Amino acid sequence: MPASPALLIVTDLDGTLLDHETYSVEAARPALDRLRELRIPVIFNTSKTAIESQLLGESLGLSDPFIIENGSAIFFPKRRFPVAPANCHSAQSCWLLELGSHHETISERLDSLATQFGFHALSRMDVKTVMERTGLSMTAAQRAQKREYSEAIVWEDSEEAFEQFRQALAGHGLHLLRGGRFWHVLGDTDKGRAQQALRDMVPAFADCRIAALGDSQNDVAMLENADIAAIIRSPAHPAPGVHSQHPPLYSQAYGPAGWAECVDRILQEFTIPRRGNHHG
Ligand SMILES: [Mg+2]
Repeated sequence: MPASPALLIVTDLDGTLLDHETYSVEAARPALDRLRELRIPVIFNTSKTAIESQLLGESLGLSDPFIIENGSAIFFPKRRFPVAPANCHSAQSCWLLELGSHHETISERLDSLATQFGFHALSRMDVKTVMERTGLSMTAAQRAQKREYSEAIVWEDSEEAFEQFRQALAGHGLHLLRGGRFWHVLGDTDKGRAQQALRDMVPAFADCRIAALGDSQNDVAMLENADIAAIIRSPAHPAPGVHSQHPPLYSQAYGPAGWAECVDRILQEFTIPRRGNHHG
């Protein structure tokens, strides 16, 4: 098990750690390096898929748990967690806890509603359309379509129809969350509940304070569950309303530059004991 850190950074990806348009993480790298020196976990909590999250984490040298598809599942890399956390099962190089509904079930419900309502599902779009809508490369767009626990949709019907759609989904135990680009249809979970589950199931995390960073409406449950909330300014939409115990931090800069700015302020507010990071 990992040593107990004093602080966990839990972060959204698109529009938060990653630039909304370019998906670049560059402006956040100095802050990520500082967190690595301080041995503070950086836990993704994203609407992205498992493969997208895993590849990004590996490219940044992270081996911390990550939460995918808006709180639908938590992955624990085995190289950091040699023993399975409670209720997890093995999924290749990770332990996996599933909290949401399976994509197949969600797809069946959406198919049954497709004749009544006007919407397009991301996983059913041709890859060129996904590339146009997201700005992702072909390979990245294909990874974004590999949804296992949720569906991203573009709504193309009236507001009134949207309410009926929401109610029809609720009748099947599904709900809607608004992300930076898409609406997400998923099971009975959200980023806040998954964050709490993660805190409860890893003994080393139990006494940690959580600083959460996000930019969109689907981050609100996570931000409100955290001990300190940081809202990253978006070039694409207004800041979400967050009712947290402590007033949230707001970044001046967009995306990863705003992320770095907020991490600096978070580290200033927390007393972090330095753990001999230059031994050997
Ligand atoms: Mg976002």
